[in-house]
Amino acid sequence: MAQIRVLPPEVAHKIAAGEVIERPSSVVKELVENSIDAGATQVTVEIKNGGLESIRVQDNGVGIAREELELAFEPHATSKIVSAEDLFALYTLGFRGEALPSIASIAKLTLFSRPGEQKNGYKIWQEDGKCVVEPVGTPPGTTVEVLDLFYNVPARLKFLKTPSTERRHVLELGTRLALAHPHIAFKIITDGKTVLATPGNGRLLDTILVVQGNNIALELVKFQAAFAWGQVQGYLGSPRLAKGNRSGQIFIMNGRVIQNQTLRVALEKGYDGLLPSRTFPWAIIALELNPELVDCNVHPAKAEVRFAQEQIIFSDILQAVRSSLTKQNLAPTLQQKETQVVRPAPGRIKVAEQTQLTWQPETWEHMDKLLKSYRVPREEPPQNAQSTLFVQESEARFAPAPQDTQEDVRGALRNGRIIGQLHQSYILLEVPQGLWILDQHIVHERVLLEQLEESWEKSAVHVQEILPQHLDFTPGEAALVEENLNLLAEFGLELENFGNNSFILRALPSSLAHSGGNWKEEILEIATTSKKTTSKKEQALITLSCKGAVKAGEYLDEQVIRALLNALAETKNPFTCPHGRPIIVRLENQELLRRFGRI
Ligand code: ADP
Ligand code: MG
Repeated sequence: MAQIRVLPPEVAHKIAAGEVIERPSSVVKELVENSIDAGATQVTVEIKNGGLESIRVQDNGVGIAREELELAFEPHATSKIVSAEDLFALYTLGFRGEALPSIASIAKLTLFSRPGEQKNGYKIWQEDGKCVVEPVGTPPGTTVEVLDLFYNVPARLKFLKTPSTERRHVLELGTRLALAHPHIAFKIITDGKTVLATPGNGRLLDTILVVQGNNIALELVKFQAAFAWGQVQGYLGSPRLAKGNRSGQIFIMNGRVIQNQTLRVALEKGYDGLLPSRTFPWAIIALELNPELVDCNVHPAKAEVRFAQEQIIFSDILQAVRSSLTKQNLAPTLQQKETQVVRPAPGRIKVAEQTQLTWQPETWEHMDKLLKSYRVPREEPPQNAQSTLFVQESEARFAPAPQDTQEDVRGALRNGRIIGQLHQSYILLEVPQGLWILDQHIVHERVLLEQLEESWEKSAVHVQEILPQHLDFTPGEAALVEENLNLLAEFGLELENFGNNSFILRALPSSLAHSGGNWKEEILEIATTSKKTTSKKEQALITLSCKGAVKAGEYLDEQVIRALLNALAETKNPFTCPHGRPIIVRLENQELLRRFGRI
């Protein structure tokens, strides 16, 4: 066994830095938290090349006095706590005294600072492990500049993603910090371009609107409640804002953006019954509570916290979310919608779809035409179709249910008698074999998917211009969309940058052009997809066909149903939906006879 040695300090620092500093956004987080702790009302974050080349965080906080500058670079040197007990009386974001020395050990860090009352500013940096201090002209506050991150830890560099991905991480983090501190005017500049500038007027709503776009205002429910342990406030998004992942949820505890299972489950349970499965509520929830009741020292990057009264906090938040949603105008519409959609239809139905149950004549007319165009010429049904069916049925009476061939199924789809729609969600079809129940959304989804696949394979996705749709994104989302404009165009989604993190959607694949609705979530989903793998490409096509398909709760007249069934009969796989669930539920004649005690 090798000798046990104490590691030299520079090695120890690098190891410690590995825990806290994973990527450029971790540097930004530590520096901005320091600015917030310093009481800043203005914080400007500027990065170049995703932060790999440079990161600069400037604030107008209290600054660091000349005589303390060197100390700030010492490990475990902090002005924020003096004893271990203080860990449970934390009003600051930092407390470990690790960030500056850690960053300085893995990048070239220079700090400029001047407390307001000090006449001159100073800059400090390290050279060969020693601090160098020089006077410098600088405004009151602190600026930290970090160049060449991980220049001396090549192993770390290898784990970094592309500059554009790292830039997106910084934007997502910056956005969250800005939302957690509406009284601070945040500015984020990437490669010379200002991508976010919040007003810093203390109003959370104003900050949300800057981050998310003004259109969101009508979809928000203000949320506020006080409890024995503290208080909670924020905004809850209407089901229309729900997303396919949890990126729309922000939890803030005493100004700290946190991840916490208790809060997440409480929020999601609060929306129980309001959202289709596999969608997640949008919400910003800020808790203020006595720091004694929370342990912030459980995660290297301080991203998670542990509550002392977990159960109580859970049930209080759940209750508060629930009652805010019921109290608001939102509730009646939701209840109404809930009763309309008796059961959320299977398939990846998005919230927007669930709440979009109203008749849209304009859209529908197009849809109608579109569906009719699918109709393939076929022979007229026999005059006495009814009796033919009846005869077949009675012949089948005592025979075991035959195994249908694909052709039988196609034939039945084309020739079956349409009984009508059940709950405006299911198609009822009388066929010689019995009664078939088809989910209208899934039927259409399958039809659209195969069309899209076909045009994709021929590398000719036909696009059609639509009424331009103005879509607002968060800075992080906008960056993602911008990076993937070409990919999106390959899928037939033609978008144009409209500045201010917004885009105009101008065209869609022609088979989807008349389906209406807001395509924002689907655009984001596809932008995160890479068409490099077949399964991802397939996933994107499924996303599109799901969005474009008729929804549960939409009225379909007989002609349209006929067109849909004909189109389904033409598909390669009329049996299962793209997610593998059945399209047709069959009630066989045998089963009917058995149930009525006839056999
Ligand atoms: P911590 O934040 O855990 O105290 P850091 O290493 O991040 O540790 O910072 C060390 C100390 O440097 C802080 O306690 C604070 O006194 C000082 N400091 C760092 N950044 C700033 C800033 N932007 N403004 C004022 N003081 C700062
Ligand atoms: Mg700190």
